[in-house]
Amino acid sequence: MATATGISFVVTFIDRAALPGWQRRWAFVSALGSAITAILYALAPDDQLAGAAMLANMAALNTLVATAVLVGTGCIRRYPSALALLAGWTLPLIVSFLYPLRSIGVIRPDQLPDALLLAVMTLECLILSLPVAGRIRQLRLENERALERHQALEQQAQTDMLTGLANRRGFREALDRAALGLAPDSLLGLLAIDIDHFKRVNDRYGHGTGDQILQHVADHVARVSGAGAIVARYGGEEFLVALTGHDLARAATLAERIRASVVSSFDPESLLPSVTISIGVAAGALSSLDMLVLEADRALYRAKDEGRNRVALARPEDRPGRQRAAA
Ligand code: GH3
Ligand code: MG
Ligand code: MG
Repeated sequence: MATATGISFVVTFIDRAALPGWQRRWAFVSALGSAITAILYALAPDDQLAGAAMLANMAALNTLVATAVLVGTGCIRRYPSALALLAGWTLPLIVSFLYPLRSIGVIRPDQLPDALLLAVMTLECLILSLPVAGRIRQLRLENERALERHQALEQQAQTDMLTGLANRRGFREALDRAALGLAPDSLLGLLAIDIDHFKRVNDRYGHGTGDQILQHVADHVARVSGAGAIVARYGGEEFLVALTGHDLARAATLAERIRASVVSSFDPESLLPSVTISIGVAAGALSSLDMLVLEADRALYRAKDEGRNRVALARPEDRPGRQRAAA
């Protein structure tokens, strides 16, 4: 049993994938053979004991050879863990071969005290623990790096590359996070913002300038909305701002401030051609986000119909349920 456990330890320790297939199969068969013969030995009737012991010893000897081949291969291929095994085992092996010499009188008992074997075995444990500790540290570092990579990718997947704002997915995630500490019926104000006649801007000044305007408007909306707001680029030239704890009036006040400050941010010295924005505002329970998005969108299109560069508030008839009921 001990040899079977030992050989699996050696294979795992050296690195399963680094050893040739035939050696791994040999190691597996040896480990299995050792375990089976150990059981046979334990169950053997008294008159068969000598035969069972011979079988167990042969299996152990075979495992010993297999282990030596595995460690030898690892050392030839310069795997640090195999070299550590060799270093850790050399001294205890040499010392344990001296004890038979002591029992036949070649070495005197005072030259080879029993405690020496214990001391070299302690040293062996120490030597073997070093690469294990190193491997654990390496795995921990790899794990930390993988976690960082995962977080960076996750962040990337939730961010709009052009503006650096959250994208649709990031918006949902940020709102879910914000909602964690809030009751489902707590107030949420929602602004749907759209740049007016943006297609014309693109057509006249080119896509590159269009992109710069998008970045400028995104920065501006985020700054004026404040740290508590969740701001996202929700489509081509559309933005959403979610404001926890805002009723319709408070959200509308902020919407007007955003609209006015975006317009005035394009002063005559500004290198960018000026644009205006239209904003639809809705407010309601945090749990009815999808409905609020629709309401704010309908209000936004009313702002467009009424001449653009303005803020429009959602009306009761903008509520999707009500319209369906009326239809
Ligand atoms: P409206 O006032 O009714 O909103 O008119 P509009 O021209 O802004 O709206 P429309 O939906 O007709 O056009 C949106 C334009 O936004 C068309 C598209 O080329 C542009 N757009 C969308 N995404 C980007 C982008 O990433 N960069 C640039 N430069 N333009 C974009
Ligand atoms: Mg537009
Ligand atoms: Mg649009």
